[in-house]
Amino acid sequence: MSEEDEQREREQLAHAADAGIHRLAIPTPFQVGRVNAYLIEDSPLTLVDSGPNSAKALDELEQMLATLGRKVEDIELLVITHQHIDHFGLASILARRSGAEVAALDALVPFLAGYGQQSDFDDAFAQNLMLRHGIPADVVAALRAVSASFRGWGASVEVTRPLAPDSELQLRDHTLRVLHRPGHSPSDTVFHDESRSILLSADHLIAHISSNPLLARPLGTEPDYSGPRPKALLTYMASLEQTRAMELSLVLPGHGAPISEHAALIDKRFRMHRRRADKIHRLITEQPRSAHEIAQALWGNVAVTQAFLTLSEVLGHVDLLLQDGRASEAELDGVVRFSSN
Ligand SMILES: [Zn+2]
Repeated sequence: MSEEDEQREREQLAHAADAGIHRLAIPTPFQVGRVNAYLIEDSPLTLVDSGPNSAKALDELEQMLATLGRKVEDIELLVITHQHIDHFGLASILARRSGAEVAALDALVPFLAGYGQQSDFDDAFAQNLMLRHGIPADVVAALRAVSASFRGWGASVEVTRPLAPDSELQLRDHTLRVLHRPGHSPSDTVFHDESRSILLSADHLIAHISSNPLLARPLGTEPDYSGPRPKALLTYMASLEQTRAMELSLVLPGHGAPISEHAALIDKRFRMHRRRADKIHRLITEQPRSAHEIAQALWGNVAVTQAFLTLSEVLGHVDLLLQDGRASEAELDGVVRFSSN
C-alpha cells in the first residue's frame, strides 16, 4: 500500500471513529486475510460480525477491545452480516460470554441455528452443481474434504433478534437501516446509518478485491434443492445498482480499507464483469464448452480448492450472456455445455 493510501485509510478510520464506529481487523485462516468487525460505541454496545471460531481470533479481538477500554463481557448486541464463517464463527462464544443479544436477517436465522446440517446441505448442492458443469468427480470429492476441514471455523448460533429487510435497528445514538443485498451470498445484509451517510457493507462491496458472487443454495430451501440454478452474479449486480444509487460519505467493508467513492468502484466492477462476459463469449464462439472447460481455458488447471470459486465465476458471467440472449445451454449425458448465439 502506498503512503498516500495509508494516509487516506487513517483519515477514513478516524472519520468512522468520530461516528463511534471502530474497525477491529481480526485474523482468519483463510486466503482473504483479516476480517473487519466493527465496534459501535452506543447503547447497547454493538459488535458487527465476530471473526472466525478460533483461539487466535478471540485473543486478538480481546486485545483490540482492550485498547478501546472494553472487554467481551461488555458487548450487548452482536450483529451478523451474512452466512460466511469468517464473519460469524465466533459469535456463539461471544454471545455466551457476554450474554449479548444476537441480531441477523430473519431469513438467515435457521441457517445460523443449524449451521452443521445446513453446511451438509450446501455441500450436497455444490457437489451436484459441479458434476453437472463438468468438474471431474475426483476434484469434487477432494473439495468436499476441504469443505469439511473448514467446518470447525464456524459454529451454530441462536439469533435472538431477527431483522426484517428495510427495518431499523435502533441504538441510542445510531439508527441503522437493515438492507438485504444478496449476491456475494444469499444473506448479505448491509447496515445504513442514514444520518451520517455511512454504510457497513460487509462483503457486498470491498475495495481491493471483487466480491465473488458465490453460487449457494437459496436460503430456506429443502436439503435436496433441485430448482433452477441460482443466478448469483445477476442478483449481485442488481444489489450493487441499489447501493450505487445511495448517497454515502463512507463505506466500511468486511475486509480491507474503507471506501469513499462507492459509485466509481461499482462502475469499475460493472465494466470488469462485462469484459469477462465478452471473453467467455469468444471462448464459446470457438466451440461449445462446459463451465469447467471455460474455466480451464481462462485459468488453466486451477488448484482444487479454487474449483468451486472459478465455477461460480464462470457461471455468473454465462448468466449475463444468457440474459442478453448471446448464449444458449444444452445438456448432454448430465453435463451442461454453453454455445454462443
Ligand atoms: Zn463473505
